[in-house]
Amino acid sequence: MTHRVFNFNAGPSTLPLDVLKIVHEELLDYRGSGMSIMESSHRSPEFDAINNEAMSLVKELLGLGDNFQVMFLTGGASSQFAMIPMNFLGPDQVGAYVDTGTWSTKAIKECEIQGKMHLAASSKDAGFTHIPAPAEITYPDNAAYLHITSNNTIKGTQYHQFPDTGNVPLICDMSSDIASRRIDYSKFSYIYAGAQKNLGPSGVTLGVIRDDLLARCKTGLPTMHSYKTHVEKKSLFNTPPSFGIYIMKLVLEWIKGQGGLEAVEKINRTKKDIIYGLMDEHPDFFKGTAETASRSWMNVTMRLPNEDMEKAFIAEAKESGFVGIKGHRSVGGVRFSMYNAMPLEGVKKAGEFMETFRKANQ
Ligand SMILES: *Cc1c(COP(=O)(O)O)cnc(C)c1O
Repeated sequence: MTHRVFNFNAGPSTLPLDVLKIVHEELLDYRGSGMSIMESSHRSPEFDAINNEAMSLVKELLGLGDNFQVMFLTGGASSQFAMIPMNFLGPDQVGAYVDTGTWSTKAIKECEIQGKMHLAASSKDAGFTHIPAPAEITYPDNAAYLHITSNNTIKGTQYHQFPDTGNVPLICDMSSDIASRRIDYSKFSYIYAGAQKNLGPSGVTLGVIRDDLLARCKTGLPTMHSYKTHVEKKSLFNTPPSFGIYIMKLVLEWIKGQGGLEAVEKINRTKKDIIYGLMDEHPDFFKGTAETASRSWMNVTMRLPNEDMEKAFIAEAKESGFVGIKGHRSVGGVRFSMYNAMPLEGVKKAGEFMETFRKANQ
């Protein structure tokens, strides 16, 4: 029997075991083709079917109509930070951004390289411990778009209410919570997500763009940096990250097989309730770093009474089979990343471990 730990890594992160088993099974001979899908042409009928199926599953699971186009891109979510102003920010416009921590700060920096940035709201002064309320988010009439980060992987905060932007396109970095819950995905003009948290392996980035925003893409861009290229060529302008797209398709099928986002959301709710429940019972020992109303369901961040205790907690957790819970190097502490693929059993057992550790050390 293969040894598997409960992997709480923030990204790349755990993948569904059922998916890995299919990958294993199909690795040497993909469905009678006599080769791995990794070795297939991206123009082959085998890959074409995967590409089309993955695109339609994205739309089906997110509840999106034919006015949305799906892209499989490279360069990570970080390249999207630059491609967004490149494609959408006109010379007389501003790119409006909400700053909720590390990743949105990086997106802001890329906008400033390309044009004018407007800070629509920020929780920086509060150490990024909450998400600004929709009413706090303001931007001028010449905003080309409003950019937000739905889940802040490092700070452990998440939007539970989205701003209504009317005619201003709403753009969202959903890298760390896409397809983890039911929300109205159709209110976003552009959604993007690095796959390595909720959707698959690193190397492929999902982009979902609404036709009205696609029509506004600027012309004269480098071909690879224009969203129009990737939509028109169905992500096959150049060689796409084909193996990653194949795994993403399997992950999407796995989500669908469980009953779609409704079923996944239910499990994710139970998971976060276990860990936050323990933190609320013992707030002097497991000190949450995010404000209650902005808590992330995906990345639970906390501090223990002191750094030595945190070190011991992380080390003992590892010995007990729970890995990847060290907080991001920029914030320290402990972080449980529990994306879709983290089984409920892993979180239940992690909760038991937390209690055992607390009783021995408090
Ligand atoms: C991980 C992450 C990124 C960075 O993704 P890359 O694919 O490494 O560029 C950006 N935004 C959020 C919210 C993330 O969690």
